[in-house]
Amino acid sequence: MPHDSPLIALLSIGFGLAFVFGAIATRLKLSPLVGYLVAGVVIGPFTPGFTADANLAADVAEIGVILLMFGVGLHFSPKDLLSVRGVAVPVALLQILLATGLGIALAMALGWGFETGVVLGLALSVSSTVVALRSLQERRLMQTERGKLTVGWLVVEDLAMVVAMVLLPTWAHIRTQVDNGEAITVLQMQDAGLAVALTLGKVALFALIMLLAGKRVVPWLLHRVVHMGSRELFRLAVLAIALGVAYAASAVFDISVALGALFAGLIMAESELSQQAANETLPLRDAFAVLFFVSVGMLFDPMILLRNPWPLIATVVIILVFRSLISVGLLKLFGQSRETAATVTASRAQIGEFSFILAGVGLQFGLMPEAANDLILGGAIISIMVSPLVFAIADRIGRKAEILDIVQQVAPTPAPPKRVVLVGYGRVGSLIGKALDEAGAMYSVIEDREDLVELLNSRGIAVVPGNAISKDTMEKAGVARADLMFVTVPDGFEAGRIVELARTLNPNVKVYARAHSDAEVEHLRTFGADLIVSGEQEIADAMIEKATAVIPRRVARA
Ligand code: AMP
Repeated sequence: MPHDSPLIALLSIGFGLAFVFGAIATRLKLSPLVGYLVAGVVIGPFTPGFTADANLAADVAEIGVILLMFGVGLHFSPKDLLSVRGVAVPVALLQILLATGLGIALAMALGWGFETGVVLGLALSVSSTVVALRSLQERRLMQTERGKLTVGWLVVEDLAMVVAMVLLPTWAHIRTQVDNGEAITVLQMQDAGLAVALTLGKVALFALIMLLAGKRVVPWLLHRVVHMGSRELFRLAVLAIALGVAYAASAVFDISVALGALFAGLIMAESELSQQAANETLPLRDAFAVLFFVSVGMLFDPMILLRNPWPLIATVVIILVFRSLISVGLLKLFGQSRETAATVTASRAQIGEFSFILAGVGLQFGLMPEAANDLILGGAIISIMVSPLVFAIADRIGRKAEILDIVQQVAPTPAPPKRVVLVGYGRVGSLIGKALDEAGAMYSVIEDREDLVELLNSRGIAVVPGNAISKDTMEKAGVARADLMFVTVPDGFEAGRIVELARTLNPNVKVYARAHSDAEVEHLRTFGADLIVSGEQEIADAMIEKATAVIPRRVARA
């Protein structure tokens, strides 16, 4: 039976080609993102052969955006976001202002007028949340200060664009009146002000409802589902909440689904089940994120490169060069280190989904010609393609800054331990990891269980996969430069070998190890562990301590 479902065609051909081109890109040592984008161009309307349904592709891509933002929310607490507001808010707003100025200049140079310039400039000023987050996740930077600042910046930017989208139609309306020689009344100006206030009010109301009601209802609900004992139902509950909240945000509050999903993640992050929730959505999120890139690729007409290359080159230069300079300048102005400025700037060196939405609004209300839309699309696709390259440059700057950091550490003031290596992220290691996160310590994990490696990656925690007994693994985790090392593997004799190896790589590192028996304690001591904690002994001690309160002395002495 011939199947002509456009959704099935999109998914099967989209995934298939994304896989093929993604594999080729990886082979060529490029980011797989480039492959996904090329797959999109191939199934797009501007190239011969099969053409996927563009509207459908955009919808499917939006699911990717929702799941991605939801994942970000899960790893962030509102506290994290508030902690970076001092820098993120002013820097984001100033950057929008300056980058919009550049867009206006470009539009004027091309003879398009001020309005087009404003829309073009706004579209060029806002980064792609999806690409930025992926880059941060790939480099395991989400939980770092730099990562938090980037996410804070992206959130402020997204909010600013929500306001811009409300203002643009009002502005278009007023402009038509001016063109027709009609006077603008004070009432209309008030209307515009009211529209902005209303939008911000809706965002605030939504946030309030989520933080007050959502924070209670969602964890309660998830708890109940867990007790039902069905993994499938739990997975479904998580998905239903993420998509449901995102949809409600856009349908009821006129907020973007992306922002809605972020809130859904934020409230779930407060619940202890959040890690499990995050894991449940991982595979689906990755699959739909691929479709996001495919759908971006579909929008691009490669012929524009030949037809009219100069304006496009100017657009790309604005996005990659001028915007990056502005970003680095502003971050330095607000006291950020060179390393932070490099990472944050590199992760934001592209435009994406919000730019397309803005361009759509601009076209719809006649504020912008088609040609300007082509520039936005072309600029997006090229900047996304070269974004891994920009990151490579930033990584080099970052590394230099890191070396400077180490040199500065030789200064006389004794600093608290900066580099920690944690071996094993099971029941014991994950608790230590949590404490290290809270202390803001810089640490890497060695873990050989694949699921845990994936979990750590998704949380942006530096992890070296593999067995800690291998010298190579230990070196990669930075044992040679570590101040402190926790060996939490359950096998005391294996732990002994790890301690021994650590000592040869770094005689000065302090090693804390876990043991289960007296023999293991002895063994670890011989190999030079500084502190050995025996699980069984600790458990017994804790029980005895409690027991002395109930049956004084006799039990304690027993
Ligand atoms: P737990 O006993 O729950 O604290 O878990 C111990 C963790 O250590 C598990 O996640 C193991 O995968 C991990 N582990 C055990 N041996 C090694 C090893 N030699 N190298 C790296 N990770 C290990």
